[in-house]
Amino acid sequence: MSPSPPLGPKPRLGYVNSSLDRAAEKRPDAEALARLAADRAAGAYVIGGDLIVLKKAAPVNDPLFTLAAARALGEGDTVFLGLNGEAGRFGASIPAANAEALKTNPDYLVTDLRSVAVHGLVEPEHLPPIAEAKAVLNWNLRHRFCPNCGHATEKVHGGWRRDCPNCKAEHFPRTDPVVIMLPVDGERCLLGRSPRFLPTMWSCLAGFIEPGESIEDAVHRETREEAGIACGRVKYFGSQPWPFPSSLMIGAHAEALTRDIVVDKQELEDARWFSREEVASMLRREHAGGLTTPPPVAIAHHIIRAWVDGEIGFD
Ligand SMILES: [Zn+2]
Repeated sequence: MSPSPPLGPKPRLGYVNSSLDRAAEKRPDAEALARLAADRAAGAYVIGGDLIVLKKAAPVNDPLFTLAAARALGEGDTVFLGLNGEAGRFGASIPAANAEALKTNPDYLVTDLRSVAVHGLVEPEHLPPIAEAKAVLNWNLRHRFCPNCGHATEKVHGGWRRDCPNCKAEHFPRTDPVVIMLPVDGERCLLGRSPRFLPTMWSCLAGFIEPGESIEDAVHRETREEAGIACGRVKYFGSQPWPFPSSLMIGAHAEALTRDIVVDKQELEDARWFSREEVASMLRREHAGGLTTPPPVAIAHHIIRAWVDGEIGFD
């Protein structure tokens, strides 16, 4: 059953559909990467800690720097992201303190990636490579020492591998899978609130997949742990990279088999059932109590929307 009035065109999900060719075959070729970096068409996204550095411009800010300009903002790592046509794209880290100091410089807009995405501070095509840069730079930053023997590692392959010269182990960037799901009971769905959320926001339940666990088992476990609800069938919806710092959100709808909620207060502030009409009003930003869903940049919005639109059911 579809709500009335309809919700309008579907919004765009953030961080997906990258237009970059990751050109993995170029990563082992240090000379090719150096040539790409030296080319005047090269561009780098600049990241300091959790902050993204943008050049202020109208109507929309410019996130791309020359590599020389990026390095002039501070020392740090450079990683190869891929090709935009023939032009190399790179991620360049600078010290977090340098990025923080640039906040007072009128030529730059310096803010966190969530704000960049939610408020549309750059053209949407830049979001996937910024997410890629943030995740790969963060992985390099956190893997300076070999987890096998403790020796310092060396960055190779444009930042896509770190080698240990002592025990010869090769280390590769990892992605942390997270299940994010909407339990559904006929014409109702279950939403929860994290204490970290804005006071009005309700969203899907979510949690990290544990080692040795399937997506379906993780959906069952997290829903039972966080809300005390047993689930049956699980329908995959879609996925989204979530570079905070390097998660992959795996979206699903789950068939609720029980109805009595027991909230895990360690994880959630609250959880409750919502009718389709109430959630539709939240998506429209017309809820009588001011409650909202997450913004369209996040996959939770799309998981919720698909159920409200009647695209998902377990009948
Ligand atoms: Zn080692």
